[in-house]
Amino acid sequence: MTATESDRTARPALLRAEGVTVGYGSRSVAVPVLRSVDLELRHGRTLGLVGESGSGKSTLARTLVGLLRPSAGRVLHEGRDLASADRGEVAALRRSVQLIPQDPYASLNPRMTVGAAIAEAVDPRRASLRRHRSEVERWLGLVALDPDAADRHPHAFSGGQRQRIAVARALAARPRVVIADEITSALDCSVQAEVLNVLADLRAELDLTMLFISHDLSVVRLVSDDVAVLYLGRVVERGEVHEVLGQAPAHPYTRLLLDSVPDGRELPRPSEAAAEPLTPHRAVPRG
Ligand code: ADP
Ligand code: MG
Repeated sequence: MTATESDRTARPALLRAEGVTVGYGSRSVAVPVLRSVDLELRHGRTLGLVGESGSGKSTLARTLVGLLRPSAGRVLHEGRDLASADRGEVAALRRSVQLIPQDPYASLNPRMTVGAAIAEAVDPRRASLRRHRSEVERWLGLVALDPDAADRHPHAFSGGQRQRIAVARALAARPRVVIADEITSALDCSVQAEVLNVLADLRAELDLTMLFISHDLSVVRLVSDDVAVLYLGRVVERGEVHEVLGQAPAHPYTRLLLDSVPDGRELPRPSEAAAEPLTPHRAVPRG
């Protein structure tokens, strides 16, 4: 066993799906969207989840944070089954796993100022921008936004800025796990890089564990340690990125995905890809 292998297996799974089968409405049992999915997020690692549109990626994200209940199998947060946890525990576990959706309007209330939204994440019980102003401004700085962004509403920002605000809001809740669901898919390439750079810096600083969902293999390759390939609601391939996306993939679908990426095998590492660091070097607020 190599050092990286023993390292990987020694790390505890912060989030785990076991035989998860889930669907929607009356068809949920007869025609499930996800079929017996096993998945594991290990401490400090980023798992990329790839699959074509409709393969069930967002459904899996919602199930992992407890918004959907599996009809079979279970989801374990740090070993605890959400289904059997009491209310207080569910609230704490949910806070420790933050979902960032593709459309930040889904996570940002358009009528709330950005600062109020971040303050709510910082302290859900005593949310107040006045009380938490300095911490809110620190978070804005960490995603390369000016302090006065706190007083504006989400519509006053560009798509990339809004997505960075959504990142700040999710991280201000101090999660151990972040699930990023196609967070750069709606953005232009250069703007994608800004969001990814911010996320990469914060991930390292905050020791985050991440599920990075995307249909874009080149992006997944840049940010992930491990990768799982979802096809028609089943995980058809998984492993370290270089294993699954580097050499000859075992599953025909993964081969197909790879073939559709131009020059996919020679992408630069994140440090080289980054044009310039956007994140000012400030200490992450500890709290
Ligand atoms: P992906 O994120 O990979 O594009 P989704 O998880 O969004 O895939 O969707 C997987 C399948 O579940 C699709 O067939 C989609 O039509 C269906 N689906 C997604 N959300 C709902 C919903 N709220 N109600 C019913 N069907 C849904
Ligand atoms: Mg989706």
